Amino acid sequence: MTLSDLSPGEKGVITKVRGRGAFRKRILEMGFVAGKEVSVIQRAPLMDPVEYNVMGYNVSLRNNEAMLIEILAESEVSKLPEFLGSGSVEGSLLGYTARQKGKVINVALVGNPNSGKTTLFNRASGSREHVGNYSGVTIDAKEARFQKDDYTFIVTDLPGTYSITAYSPEELFVRDFITESMPDVIVNIIDSSNLERNLYLTTQLIDMDIKLVGVLNMYDELSESGNSLDHVQLGHLLGFPFIPTIGSKGKGINELLQKIIDVYEDRETTLRHIHINYGEVIEQGIGRIQGLLRKPENSYLIDKISSRFIAIKLIEKDRASEVLTEQLQNYSEIIASVDAEIERIESSFQQDTESLIADAKYGFIAGALRETFKVNEITQRKTSEVVDTIITHKVWGIPIFIFLMWLTFYGTFRLGKYPMEWIEALVELTSAQLGGLLADGMLKDLFIQGIIGGVGGVIIFLPNILLLYLFISLMEDTGYMARAVFIMDKVMHKIGLHGKSFIPLLMGFGCNVPAILSTRIIESRRDRLITMLINPFMSCSARLPVYILFISAFFVQYQGTILFAMYGIGVMLAIGSALLFRKAIFKQPDMPFVMELPPYRTPTLRTVLKHMWNRAEQYLRKIGGVILVASIIIWALGYFPRETKDDHLYDQKIATISSQYSKAILQTQQSSKIIANLKQDEISKIQEISNNKESNRQLNSYIGRLGHLVEPVMRPLGFDWKMSVAILTGVAAKEITVGTLGVLYQAGQDADENSASLITKLQQQTHPAGPKKGQKVFTPLVAFSFMLFILIYFPCVAVVAAIRKESGNWKYAAFIVIYTTGLAYLGSLMVYQIGRLFI
Ligand code: GDP
Ligand code: MG
Repeated sequence: MTLSDLSPGEKGVITKVRGRGAFRKRILEMGFVAGKEVSVIQRAPLMDPVEYNVMGYNVSLRNNEAMLIEILAESEVSKLPEFLGSGSVEGSLLGYTARQKGKVINVALVGNPNSGKTTLFNRASGSREHVGNYSGVTIDAKEARFQKDDYTFIVTDLPGTYSITAYSPEELFVRDFITESMPDVIVNIIDSSNLERNLYLTTQLIDMDIKLVGVLNMYDELSESGNSLDHVQLGHLLGFPFIPTIGSKGKGINELLQKIIDVYEDRETTLRHIHINYGEVIEQGIGRIQGLLRKPENSYLIDKISSRFIAIKLIEKDRASEVLTEQLQNYSEIIASVDAEIERIESSFQQDTESLIADAKYGFIAGALRETFKVNEITQRKTSEVVDTIITHKVWGIPIFIFLMWLTFYGTFRLGKYPMEWIEALVELTSAQLGGLLADGMLKDLFIQGIIGGVGGVIIFLPNILLLYLFISLMEDTGYMARAVFIMDKVMHKIGLHGKSFIPLLMGFGCNVPAILSTRIIESRRDRLITMLINPFMSCSARLPVYILFISAFFVQYQGTILFAMYGIGVMLAIGSALLFRKAIFKQPDMPFVMELPPYRTPTLRTVLKHMWNRAEQYLRKIGGVILVASIIIWALGYFPRETKDDHLYDQKIATISSQYSKAILQTQQSSKIIANLKQDEISKIQEISNNKESNRQLNSYIGRLGHLVEPVMRPLGFDWKMSVAILTGVAAKEITVGTLGVLYQAGQDADENSASLITKLQQQTHPAGPKKGQKVFTPLVAFSFMLFILIYFPCVAVVAAIRKESGNWKYAAFIVIYTTGLAYLGSLMVYQIGRLFI
């Protein structure tokens, strides 16, 4: 009897809650726990939902939810022979009978043909079903009942299957049995002498999100082969316990039954639901389809069958799942989305989704076995395994890895140099062409100083970004990246992270935004959050222009060392922060995870280019969007107002000088040489005053006023108001810092915007007023302090938005803003103040 069979006014005791995952959890949290009494208060006019009273308060459930809660009703107890004629039923008796009913465990045996299901079934139940090497003449399930301790086991021996797809009648049978009869525990019987193939079915059971116990049958054959398996660790990785058995000798049966009880009673600590990772592209599709399946009106289906499982199956073009979804209201929407996702995934990989998902599953299995299964040295190994043992070797793995990383960075910057020069030349050419085309005035200034000055300085880094992502895509598509995760795992564990965190961190050197999106590959939420939060310390390529500018200007001798130091400081800060966050914020214990070992593939040019492009696109969007807008705003803030109250004083001075020189020239009446000299003198004097006028105007501009507002705060770090403004504008995107410095330090010069002149301009810059009047603004110490600040402070707005989106919480985004900016201030303050004592 289930809760839905009760009428208003009737009472019963809960004996069991069926259903799975999230549904079960929610129901249990509401108080529907075995042994508790429920009564029906009232039904809604249309019979649904129904209001119940449980543990003293009222809860309403939909009918399809109530159907999953088994109860023992008062009326049933009174029908039992012992109670006939005894009048009313006492509550304690009802409770007792309910507890008895709650100790009935429904178990189903699932496994490949010939894995020993029937042998175990017979051993456990004492029956004599036919055992042997034949497959599916009839498809049916044998059922046996037996007692162990207080528990009654009802065990079903299901036909053998390799998979839960709709290919064969056996498979359909098993699948329907699991989803419709909803056994309390599924026992997955595995032939230990053939782990890889047998675990394939296991991955599908994991997708189904049901309670599992693994049986490693034929353990005798595993031991004889000389191979060994750490079944406890395998259990931790896959999220359910494994029991080794030898069915033919009856060994391990008792332990198995005990484990089934533990799992049934939710006492088993290894039990947790894990997700097999199908890779970014497929996971995106799964997520979208799941979103459509998870509509409240579909709950009658997804409370019983995991929406993730259905979504994966739909992507695999599984017919049975299509039939299943046909009954849903938003069926057509779902199918349209499935078709679109399949199309997207297949065009991205140039391979059909069925084999992509199978590959991912085998990659998952290979990864799990790599950590738990030790192969006997003498046994023959597959080539890919041989390659794997070299690449992920304890000693050789690391040098190979370091070499490839070095190659990546060297290639990125070395090869990137040429296209970078071309783009730079193109930007200059455009600027010059436009300068000749447009008439002097605001529009010309806007285009040349604002737009080209800002965006042009940034776009030259596009080749570096493309190349970095090209190398990363190559490593990913060949399958090397998955191996790098193995190599980095030990190192990453030292800072409390998982090997998988390494990929997003590496990608962070390109741009933090796609890097933060790629943290999705990490299963553990804690690891994902930490990886996200430390990612801004990876010097993205947006910070590179700042480094290059200052290093070229002030560290001519130690260019390479200082650049390396900036990256190194970032990495150290990331490590330190990871350790700190783990100690202070995320205290949950470590969870082991399977690191997938996908098969090695020869990447196709098309897919590599496509992956590279997907990531570079985000960078281009940033240039076209945020950076363009920010450049224009900054330019405008510095451009207006055009007049100041002191303008006439400068104009007067210029006029006086002009007239003085005109007189002087008239008086000389001598050689043209002296006249030319005088003229030269006049021009340079006027130029000087014009410059002063311009910098006075700038001081008075909106941005100048803003800079002066924050300057007192920044002065202890060695920064003047222009640098302060550059820091403020860098919040939009760090590349803008260079553009801002360019606009602020060279205004009043010929509209020559190339960075060479900016470098000399920075070198010559002196304080115009104040206690340091006449001293150089930039010393190597100030430059270093500034680079450090740029490295650490506020990740750009796009990154903050990405963190907020991926963490699902504004708090993390706000935290990272405060944390990084605070750290930057402290760091630069210390460097500048301590440095000043020595220099
Ligand atoms: P089913 O198809 O999964 O039901 O498998 P069966 O129970 O019919 O077993 C297939 C064969 O494996 C039979 O010949 C069994 O005797 C044998 N077998 C079952 N368990 C073990 C075991 O643990 N070790 C060994 N060596 N053989 C076993
Ligand atoms: Mg059998």
